[in-house]
Amino acid sequence: MNKILNVKNLTKYYGNTLGVKNVSFELNEGEIFGFIGPNGAGKSTTIRSILNLINKTSGEVYFGGKILDKNDIEIKKSIGYLPSEINLYDDLTVKEMLDFHEKFYDRDLSKRRKELVKRLKLDEKKKVENLSLGNSKKLGIVLAFMHEPKLLILDEPTSGLDPIIQKEFFSLLKEEKQKGTTILYSTHVLNEISKICDRVGIIKSGKLLKVEPISQLLDKSLSYVTLSSDSCEKIIKKLNIEVISHEDNTIKFKNTIEVNKLIKILSNYNISKLYIEQATLDDVFLHYYE
Ligand code: ADP
Repeated sequence: MNKILNVKNLTKYYGNTLGVKNVSFELNEGEIFGFIGPNGAGKSTTIRSILNLINKTSGEVYFGGKILDKNDIEIKKSIGYLPSEINLYDDLTVKEMLDFHEKFYDRDLSKRRKELVKRLKLDEKKKVENLSLGNSKKLGIVLAFMHEPKLLILDEPTSGLDPIIQKEFFSLLKEEKQKGTTILYSTHVLNEISKICDRVGIIKSGKLLKVEPISQLLDKSLSYVTLSSDSCEKIIKKLNIEVISHEDNTIKFKNTIEVNKLIKILSNYNISKLYIEQATLDDVFLHYYE
């Protein structure tokens, strides 16, 4: 599989404050990679460092095998970026802003631009400085998408969008994926990830905890087990588990041991009932967040 982006040991300190430490991951061409973590985890720091909007402390970023250099105009033209907070304090109208942006590219973008403006219901006559949060987000989406970049980097893209526009936005993403665009999708909204992402990277306190395909994350990492036995205490001790509930001879606990292995261990005890419940994707994410 071709790698479009390669992030190696990315580290960023803001003075003494840690932003991110030794973050490494790759993006396969044509995939949607969910980048998730709670607020303050380091998502924006990673994205801004990739794009050279802030100076990284150490580490390297490669785009198509080449160091992603901030002065490389061709690379810039291949990337679309939607920031989490769009600060466009400008005396321009939306139309003037889009005209200005279009001039940066030496191609005719008018057809795509018109389509995006229409689909997102963006009013081109409005002054940029007067746009609501949702409308500036829509403008940000048009700016990020209109040159049909190879790589889209989206930082909290849905915040501020009403449900109808969100739905349109997800349709847009699916179309981009069909076209072969690679998307780095950063969010703290968990259910968005399961809807559209192929793989997910989970970041917390500046460290990338896990990178996995969504399907694998669900398959094996977490389940809830309820069992009845006259040896509950021994089982708790043996498995070193945190019990969610314990009533009479029945315990319920969160399980991170691979199921076959768990059953083998449990076969040494007298068990009268056993119930293993697959955790939902939300449970899995929250487990890493805690
Ligand atoms: P996220 O995007 O996941 O919410 P951030 O990348 O914004 O997280 O933040 C990661 C860490 O870096 C946090 O501890 C945050 O307080 C810190 N941080 C981010 N920006 C700055 C900054 N400009 N100055 C100092 N610390 C910062």
